[in-house]
Amino acid sequence: MSGTLTLVPTPIGNLSDISPRCRQALEEADFIAAEDTRVTLKLLNHLGIKKPLVSYYEHNKEFSGRKIVERILAGENCAQVSDAGSPAISDPGEDLVRLCAESGITVTAVPGPCAAITALSISGLPTGRFTFEGFLSTTKKTRAAHLKSLQEERRTMIFYEAPHKLCATLTDLEQAFGAQRRISLCRELTKLHEEVLRMTLREAVAYYAEQPPRGEFVLIVEGAPEAREEGVSMEAALARIAALTESGVSKKDAVRQVAQETGLPKNALYDAAVKGEA
Ligand code: SAM
Repeated sequence: MSGTLTLVPTPIGNLSDISPRCRQALEEADFIAAEDTRVTLKLLNHLGIKKPLVSYYEHNKEFSGRKIVERILAGENCAQVSDAGSPAISDPGEDLVRLCAESGITVTAVPGPCAAITALSISGLPTGRFTFEGFLSTTKKTRAAHLKSLQEERRTMIFYEAPHKLCATLTDLEQAFGAQRRISLCRELTKLHEEVLRMTLREAVAYYAEQPPRGEFVLIVEGAPEAREEGVSMEAALARIAALTESGVSKKDAVRQVAQETGLPKNALYDAAVKGEA
């Protein structure tokens, strides 16, 4: 009889977040597929668990995945872990789950730590509807296309980002969504220096220009405002531009933001805003 694949989440900072069920799943597995066997060995030592480990990560997933499936089909139970958090969420796992499912293997997951959901829940932004966007591409064209595809997005958006790329990403987010869009920067979750900063994109760009980002970040970005209704009047749009410029936003940025919010053409808005000043 074939064995099973169990996805086991691991702590994203605080080792006490390992649940009794996670521990049990690791103890009961015949072998553990790990993103980085050195990282997982440290966790297993901490838990006092000894298990055979096999490596399963982005660059060996095809070969290693097939071997893992063969072993499970032969009757062994496999627990899969990533370095931290939930396997298959911006981490290896997705392909192994698909491979196992295609082979008729039972796949199960123990619920547990996930940086995205932990951050969303404390962001202070709407949680009713959200979209997980993972890491933005570092390729300029793909990144721009991804952000463009989100300009109309009403749902709260979740991004992962590395600290050394944070400033560039905040600048791109401001460019895409406008200066006044709200963001919650959730840093070092479950760790000693856990912090949540809630501000506008403009403020976040300014803050991190002064304060070099450190640690791990999840960015929770407010969705596009409801204001994109049919027939928003030019008058209302101009009033919004005036309010934004009064609050310190440059005319160019205010026009770009209001164009996004209302769907009115940027050039027409700019011309009307300039005319209104004359
Ligand atoms: N699968 C993992 C999960 O479920 O959270 C995510 C893995 S992904 C490779 C790593 C990213 O998750 C980091 O770059 C960061 O954006 C986020 N992250 C992980 N741990 C975090 C923490 N303690 N605080 C804030 N963000 C964290």
